[in-house]
Amino acid sequence: MRESLKTLIIAKNKNGSRGRLAWHGAGLLSRWGSPARVQIPPAAPFRVQTAPPTLSRLMVPVMLKVTILGAGGSAPPPGYGGPSILLNHRENYAIVDCGENCLSSMTLQGVDPCKIDYIYISHVHIDHWAGLPSLGVKLIERKCPYLTVITHSDAYDELRSYLSIFMPSTLNLELKKLSLKEELFLGSYSGKIFKVYHKVPTYGVIFLGEKGEPLLVYTSDTGYKKELIDSIPKRPKALFIEATLPSGLEEIAETTGHLTVTQAIRLASLLDPSFIVTVHLSESSLRELLNKKRENVIIPRDGMTINL
Ligand SMILES: [Zn+2]
Repeated sequence: MRESLKTLIIAKNKNGSRGRLAWHGAGLLSRWGSPARVQIPPAAPFRVQTAPPTLSRLMVPVMLKVTILGAGGSAPPPGYGGPSILLNHRENYAIVDCGENCLSSMTLQGVDPCKIDYIYISHVHIDHWAGLPSLGVKLIERKCPYLTVITHSDAYDELRSYLSIFMPSTLNLELKKLSLKEELFLGSYSGKIFKVYHKVPTYGVIFLGEKGEPLLVYTSDTGYKKELIDSIPKRPKALFIEATLPSGLEEIAETTGHLTVTQAIRLASLLDPSFIVTVHLSESSLRELLNKKRENVIIPRDGMTINL
């Protein structure tokens, strides 16, 4: 059943028609100006609803659901998993990076791992794929032992050698190589990868809406470089930006290819997104963000869902 579904999705992607149409729907939602709706588990603050939702709001369908499976970095704050976001568009599920706890976070959110169609890995650092082996074991246990992992051509050989050691051998693992000119197809929608500045070759992703407007940008791990401004379209709706280090550690950030909180906010302000989601957090960067809250900055918890 799963295999036939997967074949169907791939077939539809090959002719390109459904993929584009479906993704364009998400852009339409953006054009209508629907605000991002954020659900924060476990308990959102209680608010008195003074008026029922308007009819037009009720009629707006949820097009792209983004669930943060892990908002931590290589040394995550207590209670946070490694970097991972889950994208759900209609019946398609894809994961961008699969940090440690990716599986348990999915389980907590009630997401069936057998439904995952694709996983994109942004670079070979272990905190971005450490969740793959346990996910592989779970897929075998659930009798749906198929997994398609996509990475860019610069990371392909190295990631393949790691996965050949760590992934369960009975899993039907397909590792796909993405050339830098190709679009990243993740089920019924696609994204464009762009080079960022890290210690190893690393690529972020831009998901576009109906008229090519940037809907969701994910930076993955990157240092502060002016060139990034030219690679990322201005005014994306959601900017998922790494904020690994607290302010004051800019020298370490430059050496390690990461951003401090100040650098992340400065870079984000140049891109002028509707809102920023800080990810790849450490305990100290999280503390700094919580101490100085900013209007359009979302400080996530694992399990947070954002509807675009
Ligand atoms: Zn890294």
